[in-house]
Amino acid sequence: MSDCIFCKIIKGEIPSSKVYEDDAVLAFLDIHPINYGHTLVIPKEHHETVVDLSDNLLQEVILQVKRIGQAVMAGLRVDGFNIGLNNGRAAGQEVDHVHFHVIPRLSNDGLKHWPSREYAESENEKVADKIKQALK
Ligand code: AMP
Ligand code: ZN
Repeated sequence: MSDCIFCKIIKGEIPSSKVYEDDAVLAFLDIHPINYGHTLVIPKEHHETVVDLSDNLLQEVILQVKRIGQAVMAGLRVDGFNIGLNNGRAAGQEVDHVHFHVIPRLSNDGLKHWPSREYAESENEKVADKIKQALK
């Protein structure tokens, strides 16, 4: 898409620090890293969200996410990494070109995990059932 910032990066119209590229996938450093080495992995085809991707393209992207996670661990000598994908505005998606975040983690980086809640009695079964039904 012509006004998409990530499409512009793919076309070389906006600079980026690329770490990997093939026919279908591009990976480059996030300009505002959570930790150094925070990498974004995107399909070269413009698609808004993960559910818009074909299964084949999603497979190509996720395989590179795994490889880049391994490379981040080995190359930056970090202790772990998070894989994230913000799907939709409510989930924090700001750039409408689907992208996986690979975020290097250090044991002492001070980042907090998301807060958690408790289910009210038997609500978990009801919630699970709604998802199960939608999968059919
Ligand atoms: P999200 O909130 O999941 O849509 O994340 C969008 C990410 O894109 C943010 O982490 C931004 O820092 C990152 N970002 C935005 N513009 C650029 C850019 N020109 N180069 C690299 N990363 C970018
Ligand atoms: Zn795009």
